[in-house]
Amino acid sequence: MNLPVYMDYHATTPCDSRVLEAMLPYFSQQFGNAASQGHVFGWHAAEAVKIAREEIAGLLNADPSEIIFTSGATESINLAMKGVFEMMSGRGRHIITVSTEHRAVLDTCRHLEKLGAEISYLPVLPNGLINLDELKSAIRPDTILITVMYANNETGVLQPIHEIGKIAKDNGILFLSDATQALGKIPVNVIDIGIDLLAYSAHKLYGPKGIGALYIRRRNPRVRLIAQMDGGGQERGFRSGTLNVPGIVGFGKAASLAGAEMEENMKLISRLRDELEWALLQFDGARLNGHSRNRLPTVTNISFADTSGQHLLETLLKDIAISSGSACSSASLEPSHVLKAMGLNDESAYHAIRFSLGKYNTREEVDFVIEKVSYALKRQVLNLKN
Ligand SMILES: *Cc1c(COP(=O)(O)O)cnc(C)c1O
Repeated sequence: MNLPVYMDYHATTPCDSRVLEAMLPYFSQQFGNAASQGHVFGWHAAEAVKIAREEIAGLLNADPSEIIFTSGATESINLAMKGVFEMMSGRGRHIITVSTEHRAVLDTCRHLEKLGAEISYLPVLPNGLINLDELKSAIRPDTILITVMYANNETGVLQPIHEIGKIAKDNGILFLSDATQALGKIPVNVIDIGIDLLAYSAHKLYGPKGIGALYIRRRNPRVRLIAQMDGGGQERGFRSGTLNVPGIVGFGKAASLAGAEMEENMKLISRLRDELEWALLQFDGARLNGHSRNRLPTVTNISFADTSGQHLLETLLKDIAISSGSACSSASLEPSHVLKAMGLNDESAYHAIRFSLGKYNTREEVDFVIEKVSYALKRQVLNLKN
């Protein structure tokens, strides 16, 4: 077993070696610009991009022409929200989202508010789910977009995406979902769900960092939005800039592996997660944050009572890579906005630790983590330092 143990797969995942292998030729021999249509270097690059686009579209049952490559989920969300707002602000300026969204959504909302958008931030129940009646009553004649994440990065909670899609469709409102945590973990099908825009990143599913995509529905309805990057007109004009061919090839490989191996991987990961969670919840005052069933199989978010979560985290971090809340909020030492929206007080939110597992975790590592937490908690009870 290698130390430290990595249990922060919701922050990022390592590149699968098969992904890396697929990418390598595109840095050197096959270095062409996919837009160079006059010679063989460009043709090879364009062909590789075409195949990757099909693989990525396949993971969500989309048409390849509906996939726009970006630098990641953050950029995809920015493009979707700002692009729709700019396109439709003449028709309406009201957007509905949820208080537990990722910063990429919430901070984009703040930006749009400065440009005249009105945003409704739906609250969540203590289990992290939204109340659909509250969504329905938030809808106004000038609502242009509903943005609800598929799966929460901190708790894994899955929102009722199908029902939200139906409500959006019945009201003729566009529906954007941040599916960064869902892709590769649970089946996502944009045809079944009335999703119009869907954002995600390769590095959360064993692909490289710095590459992501935005799914933009082309039929029923055909989504129109204003590009946020001007230039060479790549990606059907939605996102100019030379394509990151090695990244796209890696993303494609990661998506096809994720699709083929999802069931098997998730069976193993959920078993490890359940074992870990069961053991951790035996500690006095430990409690699970978020719905216990409507969630991803990869994560457990637990508040440990009567101890300083931050201190516990510091003790554990020597041997275990984990985080309190999201990676971004743990850097700022702010209590997680997700847990606070679920009704936790500052103290319980501070005391929460997110263990997120992935396909390279082992039972040995799970046992090690349980032992370390037990040891750290005992020392805390005795008020010992280090
Ligand atoms: C990681 C993550 C993002 C941001 O992805 P980037 O690759 O950093 O752009 C957005 N939303 C969720 C839910 C995430 O987990």
